[in-house]
Amino acid sequence: MELCDLAPGYVRAIAPYQPGKPIAELAREMGLNEVDIVKLASNENPLGPSPLALAAIQECLPELARYPDGNGFTLKSAIATKYGVKPEQIVLGNGSNDVLEFAARAFLKPGDSAVYSQHAFAVYPLVVQAVGARGIEVPAKDFGNDPQAMLEAIEDDTRLIFIANPNNPTGTLIMPDVLLGFIEQVPRNVLVLLDEAYFEYLAPEVTPKSIEWLARFPNLLIARTFSKAYALAGLRVGFGLAHPNVVGMLNRVRQPFNVSSVAQVAAVAALGDTNHLQRGVALNAAGMQQICAGLKQIDLSYIPSFGNFLSFRIGGATAMYQRLLKRGIIVRPVANYGMPDYLRVSIGLEVENEKFLSALASAMQE
Ligand SMILES: *Cc1c(COP(=O)(O)O)cnc(C)c1O
Repeated sequence: MELCDLAPGYVRAIAPYQPGKPIAELAREMGLNEVDIVKLASNENPLGPSPLALAAIQECLPELARYPDGNGFTLKSAIATKYGVKPEQIVLGNGSNDVLEFAARAFLKPGDSAVYSQHAFAVYPLVVQAVGARGIEVPAKDFGNDPQAMLEAIEDDTRLIFIANPNNPTGTLIMPDVLLGFIEQVPRNVLVLLDEAYFEYLAPEVTPKSIEWLARFPNLLIARTFSKAYALAGLRVGFGLAHPNVVGMLNRVRQPFNVSSVAQVAAVAALGDTNHLQRGVALNAAGMQQICAGLKQIDLSYIPSFGNFLSFRIGGATAMYQRLLKRGIIVRPVANYGMPDYLRVSIGLEVENEKFLSALASAMQE
């Protein structure tokens, strides 16, 4: 079709994002019962949302005829109080993916470049390519971001650096002092997008004081999300923290009502429920131990992870993925992340982890 031939080459060349397979889709394809399917494919929180968030959602439903607060006053106030920042330092996103896209659209144009690591989150190359800029992929070190190599990869036309910490799908972490040393060395005319989607899962001794760093680095943009530890992935809400001038640029490319009213009230309630958050974090720690022990028992190696997921090495990963699907278990193939011999599993409830481990053992016997 001629019309599509006229779309920019860099748009036509985009390889679409491959999401985890939805439960309903597998049920249709395999004739399985949805309740028998275990989905450990999208790093979702198996505990579910805070009851306070669910109550807030219920309460706001009669107001759905109205547009949301496009400025997100209440949610920004809650974030500002919780993290000790000013509302002018906050940009709200339809998921933190939205914030990643704002950064690309506000700071990149054709002819510019952006730096990210090999095995980095798949959305980085997507948003860079969508605006016609050039991605510079830096080889990973032990599957993680290599800060020194990333610094050296910066070119004159580089405007943006993406760094996921912990990284998805590898689960690797840059230690706080190394991360700080890295940010100190990035030229001030390059925006550092520090993607902290799994921040809440970090143990205190490895938690960077990244928000404190905002005062020192006007080129630092921190992305956080309500999709993972706060268990609101279906609502699509996240935020960015940066210098007010950077936030001002991001707001210029943001749709006026990008975060729904339901998402805003739920996020405020979820932020306030630290007990629920801690329960989810503890459940994840226990489940991580369970899965690591189970993998060791069947002689599979894995990349130690700081997130709520784990990538493990397995021969014939594509076939194994299919065999797990037949058994009602959805995990995530990561060949498109340059890891063809790995599968990624999200940490689930104890019973889900158990089902995954036994299905995996059985798939390996097949
Ligand atoms: C899950 C994830 C996100 C968050 O996505 P949302 O759009 O907030 O749901 C961002 N970055 C990374 C690295 C992730 O894994």
